Amino acid sequence: MQTIKTVAELRRALIEIRKAGKRVGFVPTMGYLHDGHLALIEASKAQSDVSVVSIFVNPTQFGPNEDLGTYPRDFLRDEKLCRDAGISILFAPDAKEIYPAQFQTFVEPSELAKPLCGAFRPGHFRGVATVVCKLFNMVQPDVAFFGQKDFQQCAVVRRMSVDLNLPIEIIIVPTVREADGLAMSSRNRYLNQQERERALAISRGLFAAAEQFNSGERDVERLLATVKQRLAAVDRLEYLDLVDSVNLKPAGNPLRTTAALCVAAYVGSTRLIDNMVLSLPA
Ligand code: AMP
Repeated sequence: MQTIKTVAELRRALIEIRKAGKRVGFVPTMGYLHDGHLALIEASKAQSDVSVVSIFVNPTQFGPNEDLGTYPRDFLRDEKLCRDAGISILFAPDAKEIYPAQFQTFVEPSELAKPLCGAFRPGHFRGVATVVCKLFNMVQPDVAFFGQKDFQQCAVVRRMSVDLNLPIEIIIVPTVREADGLAMSSRNRYLNQQERERALAISRGLFAAAEQFNSGERDVERLLATVKQRLAAVDRLEYLDLVDSVNLKPAGNPLRTTAALCVAAYVGSTRLIDNMVLSLPA
């Protein structure tokens, strides 16, 4: 595995790979890798000849009062995980490489960036879309892998790829969970033992609603009430919404199209997100 820090070096490393006609898979991450990231890596290895992973804690997607400075990092551990996983190239640029002085051009998602996380993290999806677009241009993959855990991010990235005619297949990988149901996240490490226990309310609420849905419940209010009841254990509910899975607008009541239950909540000072797709035939 090559660990690469600059765009110029990355381009050089990819020349031979492309000449050989190899299919390049790409997994963008912010590092502090866990089994969720590794599922994306496995999917990439299964569906491409050469896999590139990026590790970049992207400053433009963090708000001024968010955790950019304290975001968990362990580069040597991540590098070993990538090597052991059979990654060909680990791209780990520093912030100046991605945002040199005078940088001023952004990708601005519109409607899909407004609800859910977008309503509470102004500018977040602009930062995400910008960095993903830049990384796509640097790596020029054939296929890129994203986790369903970040449901709105998947919608924004898919839309951006279509809108900007990026010739990249976007594959969404299901959320990987701890044995007790908690969605894996680099931010879970912020939780102390007691908070970790209370954080389970989120996945338990989503699973309870999914069970109710699978038993035939289609009433939006009753499904939301099921989740909300469990969410009493979190410290602050930021949002709980049931949205159309494609346009992210509030789902019609009763449900007639595939929808996603999306939650963001604070446990202690840690902000956690999770979601559950309630699938109906289109
Ligand atoms: P991050 O490092 O948090 O920016 O995540 C990098 C990629 O891994 C994104 O596409 C995430 O959606 C994905 N990811 C994070 N957590 C999980 C998880 N628990 N299951 C599946 N994918 C995940």
